[in-house]
Amino acid sequence: MSDRLGKDQVAALLGWFAARQRSLPWRMAPAGQRPPYAVWVSEIMLQQTRVEVVVPYFEAWMRSFPTVEALAEASEDEVLRHWAGLGYYRRARFLHRAAQELVAAGARGQGGAAWPQSAAAWAELPGIGEYTAAAVASLSCGEAAPVVDGNVKRVVARCAGLELASDTRALHRESAAWMAAAMELLPKAEGPGAWNEAVMELGATVCTPRSPACAACPVADGCHINDGRGPEDAARLAEAYPLPPKAKNWIELELVYGLAACPQEGGVLLVQRIEGWNPGLWEPPSLVRESSGASPEDLQAAWQGSGAPGQLGEELGVVRHTITRHKIQARVHLLETPADTAYQDPSQVGLTGLARKILRRWV
Ligand code: SF4
Repeated sequence: MSDRLGKDQVAALLGWFAARQRSLPWRMAPAGQRPPYAVWVSEIMLQQTRVEVVVPYFEAWMRSFPTVEALAEASEDEVLRHWAGLGYYRRARFLHRAAQELVAAGARGQGGAAWPQSAAAWAELPGIGEYTAAAVASLSCGEAAPVVDGNVKRVVARCAGLELASDTRALHRESAAWMAAAMELLPKAEGPGAWNEAVMELGATVCTPRSPACAACPVADGCHINDGRGPEDAARLAEAYPLPPKAKNWIELELVYGLAACPQEGGVLLVQRIEGWNPGLWEPPSLVRESSGASPEDLQAAWQGSGAPGQLGEELGVVRHTITRHKIQARVHLLETPADTAYQDPSQVGLTGLARKILRRWV
């Protein structure tokens, strides 16, 4: 069996995708003819975030920033507030900066001749990597640029029987070559954007990490894993592909948060993060707790020594949160603050994910 799909399997997968693709707000036109602004915003939002979560954010975003000029002219705070809840805020900052660069280069509205016309041109903008550049170029202007994400790599590793780990450059390279080879077999009426979407959809819904539905797979007869096996055996074997990545090195952190809320004004004492993760976003004042055995007096001394405002009171509870490589255990204390403390309305600023968890629970 070849490690590439044949013409019939390519057509079968496209037919399957055409019949079942979800109606999503950024799929307003056939792949290859969509407005680049909408495709770009949706692709950035979809990084590390599920489709169901993205849909309402995308719709609200397009109402507030319907054009690239509207986004470029917005303040960073306004942009981050619209992003709050999607996580990985660097994505929003890069979108904002890229919008300003696009407008400075002459781009207007949602698309047109002044917008980038190739994956290489998209990749020059901030926050746009190889995957996003290929996705936007194939979906907006029909360039034959293969996308390679986790779903695509899983489908390729299984179809081609590649014993490679999911985080290796070798699997990435093989996947790009496999996708490009299939694009040469596309029927006349179909573009590379539809092929990219079809393979990703297959990986997301049929060729899933656990219990893939080999019996219902449109490319089963071109798949190495399925070769000569019944669908149940194939599904069991498929779970071993691709090989697992190396374990992540987690950094465990214990933080202390001081929570001061003003019941009359409905505000909360918030500070803006300036370094580390989520710079620019807001959260209650905090301190990294160096020693978990510290006495309340030592803790208070460390709080004051760090320049954090107020006096720590009783501990309300613990919130756990994971961000990038950090596993955070946040101990939330009541904070006693002076009478002239300035409180903020949390709905008017971009909050960190951890701050939202804390406020949801106690405010
Ligand atoms: S036959 Fe099974 S393992 Fe092969 S591509 Fe389809 S779902 Fe994935």
